[in-house]
Amino acid sequence: MKYTRPLIITLPAMLAACQPGAEQPAERPNIIFIFSDDHATHAIGAYGPKNNNPELHKHVITPALDKLAAEGMLFENVFCTNSICGPSRAAILTGKHSHFNGMLRNDTIFDGSQQTFPKLFQEGGYKTAWIGKWHLFSDPTGFDDWAILTQWGQQGTYYNPIFGTSEGTKEPETGYTATLITDRAIDWLEQNRDGSRPFFLAYSHKTPHREWVPGPDEYDLYKDIDLPVPANFFDDYSNRSSAATMQEMEIARHMNERDLKLVPPAYLNEEQLAMFMEAYGPENEAFEEANLQGDELALWKYQRYVKDFLRSVTSMDKEIGRLLDYLEESGLAENTVVIYSSDQGFFLGDHGWYDKRWMYEESLRMPFIARWPGVTEPGSRNSHIVQNIDFAGTFLDMAGLPIPGDMQSLSMVPLLKGDEPEKWREYAYYHYYAYPDWHMVKPHYGIRCDRYKLIHYYTLDEWELFDLERDPDEMHSVYPDPEYSDLVSFLKEELERTRVAEGDTVEMSAPSRHYR
Ligand code: CA
Repeated sequence: MKYTRPLIITLPAMLAACQPGAEQPAERPNIIFIFSDDHATHAIGAYGPKNNNPELHKHVITPALDKLAAEGMLFENVFCTNSICGPSRAAILTGKHSHFNGMLRNDTIFDGSQQTFPKLFQEGGYKTAWIGKWHLFSDPTGFDDWAILTQWGQQGTYYNPIFGTSEGTKEPETGYTATLITDRAIDWLEQNRDGSRPFFLAYSHKTPHREWVPGPDEYDLYKDIDLPVPANFFDDYSNRSSAATMQEMEIARHMNERDLKLVPPAYLNEEQLAMFMEAYGPENEAFEEANLQGDELALWKYQRYVKDFLRSVTSMDKEIGRLLDYLEESGLAENTVVIYSSDQGFFLGDHGWYDKRWMYEESLRMPFIARWPGVTEPGSRNSHIVQNIDFAGTFLDMAGLPIPGDMQSLSMVPLLKGDEPEKWREYAYYHYYAYPDWHMVKPHYGIRCDRYKLIHYYTLDEWELFDLERDPDEMHSVYPDPEYSDLVSFLKEELERTRVAEGDTVEMSAPSRHYR
C-alpha cells in the first residue's frame, strides 16, 4: 500500500482549514530509534531490580536511559518473536513474524526487496537513515543514507570499526565503536538531514553483544568489588524439559578465552592494547596462579563476564547521553520521538547462562522506552503485552502513515497516549528455529500471557508450563502437575489458535536445513 498525499483539496476543505480555531494537523514528528544488541532489561537502571538477583540493580549505571524513562514511557512486557539478532531485526523492519519475513535464523540473508517500514517512511515523505550495526547481510533498503559495521560477519568490533556506506565506500576508523557510531549519528543530524521534511534515524549500537569490551573510561568500574550472583546461578535444570540440559551456554563451561579477556582482541592498536593489558593483565596473572576449580572457577568467570557486560552498557549509555544532549542543544528534541530498544534480552548468569535464544523471561523480554514530547506521560510505565512485530506499525502510526494490512503490527500509539485500547493481544507468540547452532538450544514455540507461559519443544515432543506469578524465575515447570491439567488443555488450544492467527500454520514451518 502506497501513501500519497491528496492532490486535490476541495474549496470547502480549504475554507474550513482557514477558519479561526480550526484544528491544524500536527507537525509530523521525527523519530530516532536507538537500538542496541542483547541488552537485557535487568541491565537498565530504570527497569528496577530483578527477583533472582535484586542487589545487582544497585550496580547498573545507565543514567541516560534512566533519564529517557523518567521523561517518557517504559514498557515492561515487550517480547521478541524469535530471540536472536537477525530474526529480531527482520521482525522489526517488516512488522512480521519470522515465518513471513523469511529470516528464521542468523545465517539467513534478509530479503531486502520485501516491504519494510523504512520504505513506507520514504514514500510518506520522510528522510531515513540507519547508522551502526545492521547484521542482516543484504544491503539496507529503505534508507536514504546508511553506514553499517562490516567486520566479523557484520557483528562489528568494539574498537576500530570499518563502516560500509550507502555510497559504496569502506571506511576504517580508529577508536571505540560506540563513540564513532554516535559521532556519525550526530554528524548525520547536522549535515545530511533535510530540514524541510521529517526524518527517521536508526542509531544502532553493537553493544553489549558478546564479547563485551568496555570503553577506555569504564575498564576500572567494579575493579575491587564482587557483583551479586543470581540465586539460580548453580541451576541443575531439574523439573524442566530435557532441552535445558542440552544447551551449551553455561558461563562455567562454554565461555572462551576471548569472552573472559584472557586473551586480548586482535583488532586493538598498540595504545588500546596497552590499556587493555593494564586493566586485565594483573588480574589474569593472579587468576592463573590461583588455579581455581569447580564453583570457584565458575564464579570467577561470572564476575569477569557480568562486570564486562555492565561496563560495556555504561560505555554505550554515555554515548546515548551525548546524542540526547545534542538533541536538546540543537532544539530537535522538541519534535522528535526518541525510542530505546534492543533486539532481545540476555542471560546475566541467570540459570548459569549467558546468551539468549530461549523463550525464558531473560531473553524473551526486550527493553522499550519511548519519549514523545507532549504525548507520553513523563515517568509512566505500561504493562501491555507488546511484540517486536508491533514496532513497524507503531512507527508508521506515529508518523500518520497507514499500516499495511499484511503487517502483523498492533500500533502502540494508543498505549503511548495513555489510552486503554478496547482490544489488545492476550498472548505473545514465539518461535525459535536455529538448531543445531551456537549454544545448541532446541527449537521451540509457545505463548506467554500475563501469568502463564506454555512452551513446546517440538523436536523432543516435550512441554513446559510456567506459572510466572508463583515461579517468576522459571525453575519448575508445572506441566506434569495435575493441579494444572485443565489449564494445560486450555493453553494448548490457545497456542494452536494463536499459531493459526499469526499464520504459522505449517507444522514446524520452514525448518532450517539442519532441522531434525
Ligand atoms: Ca542480539
